[in-house]
Amino acid sequence: MSRYWSDVVHRLTPYVPGEQPRIEGLVKLNTNECPYGPSEAVLAAMAAQTGEALRLYPDPQSSALREAIAAHHGLKPAQVFVGNGSDEVLAHAFLALLKHEAPLLHPDISYSFYPVYAKLYGIHTRELPLAEDFGIRVDDFLAATGDAQGAGAIIFPNPNAPTGMALPRAEIRRLLDGVPDAPVVIDEAYVDFGGESAAALIDRYPQLLVTRTLSKSRALAGLRVGYALGDPALIEALTRVKDSFNSYPLDRVAAAGAVASMQDEAWFAATCARIVATRERLTAALAARGFQVLPSAANFVFARHPGHAGAALAAALREHKVLVRQFPRPARIADFLRISIGTEAQTDTLLAALDRVLAAA
Ligand code: PMP
Repeated sequence: MSRYWSDVVHRLTPYVPGEQPRIEGLVKLNTNECPYGPSEAVLAAMAAQTGEALRLYPDPQSSALREAIAAHHGLKPAQVFVGNGSDEVLAHAFLALLKHEAPLLHPDISYSFYPVYAKLYGIHTRELPLAEDFGIRVDDFLAATGDAQGAGAIIFPNPNAPTGMALPRAEIRRLLDGVPDAPVVIDEAYVDFGGESAAALIDRYPQLLVTRTLSKSRALAGLRVGYALGDPALIEALTRVKDSFNSYPLDRVAAAGAVASMQDEAWFAATCARIVATRERLTAALAARGFQVLPSAANFVFARHPGHAGAALAAALREHKVLVRQFPRPARIADFLRISIGTEAQTDTLLAALDRVLAAA
């Protein structure tokens, strides 16, 4: 292969998502989807768009959806950007906001899509190790910002993925106060399960962009809707990048379903509460079986058993038709399993399979 092509191939190293196998009867706890179906109001709103209305292009500004999202967060539509899943919103943020001379800072253990986008767009990154207890250390980010390399921008998930651990809002404020001039992107894909959102800080910190998804807490991973909240200047920058790719961010069906979802607060609150209750039950059950479980504010737990290698445990669970996620790298987390919160019945199946696997070892 010529040098040119090997450089291109290197730059385009893709993200490897969790498996989506088509195996009958599999208990699928590997990609943090919601175990319950979306609200009835969402299904009805989408059905209303699947007839004659499909003839027409969607609203390029997604105005109705941006208004619904703004109303949910007590913000203005000019502070809202929408896209096809938060992955696309993040991709636009990388191009529009995170490319600078100084490196983009992110934790060494966080969403593995960040290095993929960075490489694709030629963004220089610097990974900051998580603390001993797997928390994000704001002091390390502040110190890195002040040293010779500096910080062009910062990104991390809160709660972090795959640890599930949340950073309190007071810590986020300390970071934003110390880094007034660099864009700070907080990826809140999992915040609805117990984290403290930074959305309330948007008006005070013009460098802050918060990204969200309807894939997890609103059970719409298949619809591909995500959004960002931030100062109107940041939203305008994202919109310019979006318009350079495709000026129609969402199709009519997805936009209508997403509006209904943002407006169905009762379904949303009940579903989040249900998942949190199952997470607490699963955390206690894993601890009772000898697992170390990191404190999770997400719809998954990250846990390791002192007597079992992570890869072997994940493979053994798969034999029992339970699919969980294990990350071979970095080595520090290789023995952890990331287990999405399922239904109560799926949790029973997982625990029964674990008991068989642990007893057999
Ligand atoms: N951020 C984090 C931290 C995630 O784990 C995910 C889901 N894989 C996403 C963003 C993207 O979610 P989506 O594109 O479905 O909105």
